[in-house]
Amino acid sequence: MGYPRLISNKEAIIHNVKKISQMCHERGIELTGVVKVTKGEPSLAKLYLENGVDIIGDSRIANIKRMKMAGVNGPFMLLRIPMPSEIEDLVKYVDITLVSELKTVEIIGKIAMDKGKRQKIIYMVDVGDLREGVWFENAVDEVTKASQIKGVELYGIGTNLGCYGGVVPDTENMNLLSDIARKIRNKETNFKIVSGGNTAAVYLIENNTLPKEINGYRLGESIILGTDTTNNRSFPFLRQDTFTLEAEIIELKTKPSVPYGKIGRDAMGRVPVFEDFGNRLKAIIAIGEQDIQPDGMIPLEKGIKVLHASSDHMVLDVTEFNGELDIGSILKFRLTYGALLRSMTSEYVEKIWDF
Ligand SMILES: *Cc1c(COP(=O)(O)O)cnc(C)c1O
Repeated sequence: MGYPRLISNKEAIIHNVKKISQMCHERGIELTGVVKVTKGEPSLAKLYLENGVDIIGDSRIANIKRMKMAGVNGPFMLLRIPMPSEIEDLVKYVDITLVSELKTVEIIGKIAMDKGKRQKIIYMVDVGDLREGVWFENAVDEVTKASQIKGVELYGIGTNLGCYGGVVPDTENMNLLSDIARKIRNKETNFKIVSGGNTAAVYLIENNTLPKEINGYRLGESIILGTDTTNNRSFPFLRQDTFTLEAEIIELKTKPSVPYGKIGRDAMGRVPVFEDFGNRLKAIIAIGEQDIQPDGMIPLEKGIKVLHASSDHMVLDVTEFNGELDIGSILKFRLTYGALLRSMTSEYVEKIWDF
């Protein structure tokens, strides 16, 4: 088998799926398990559904199509608001879609009616993060209008926080969403789900401060890595050993810590900065920017430090490593969400799913 490779840990992932499902279901929350970071890996989606997830979420129709072809039953939620050009496929493959434009909803309704269907939609409300959604002040009107469009069924309203503006979900913005839900329902427009949360909002369930109206969560990172990047934490009741990245040493030499010569820009157009620690033992591993986010690699063993990478080479300082290293030695890493995303997308990283 080749290197670099990414090895999944079935047991750890099952642990996380079960814990999160239980936590959501105890509070009447419908759980969408988000698999987009794995390009919609069908075996992972199956594992999620078998262990308590209610709906499979992905941001790309191509991934949903792949899972369907591989025999995953769904239901499937499309997380990225659709391109008008993909709505034919949307109606074919997607059960529930997030939306934020009346024009798009009109197109969805038309195509769905042509096919004799009613497409479920979740209308997104922007409560401050500045990614998708109708600005909260205009939400009641716009969502009510959307609910009257033929060919669609308003399944819920939702919001997304943390991912773009870095706004932390809290009781205040969740109450804002709950108020909007109440106002729309007072106009006799009913719907099932108020989809409030991604991973950054899990802590509101943990500390019991989530408004009772919120009954839908869409969770990716917490299940797959046991971490919460927005709040900069790991979940104590979840496992973080869900994936291991392995890479191979192709050069091992003692060199200065500062380059010799005039410094221009590196391969990515950055001006690298170096501190002088004298001569150090350096290892080059065969992986680079094309495969990974270098600062998202966390060495599993002590005494190894990731210095810098170009497209295909990564330089590590291994001076403090307590053990034998040689050309061909394999080093192991945990990954942050960003690093996992890039390694999943790189065709040069072999993926090993043990399920
Ligand atoms: C990716 C995504 C999620 C999942 O976010 P995590 O932080 O990984 O839990 C939820 N909702 C939407 C709209 C997304 O795009």
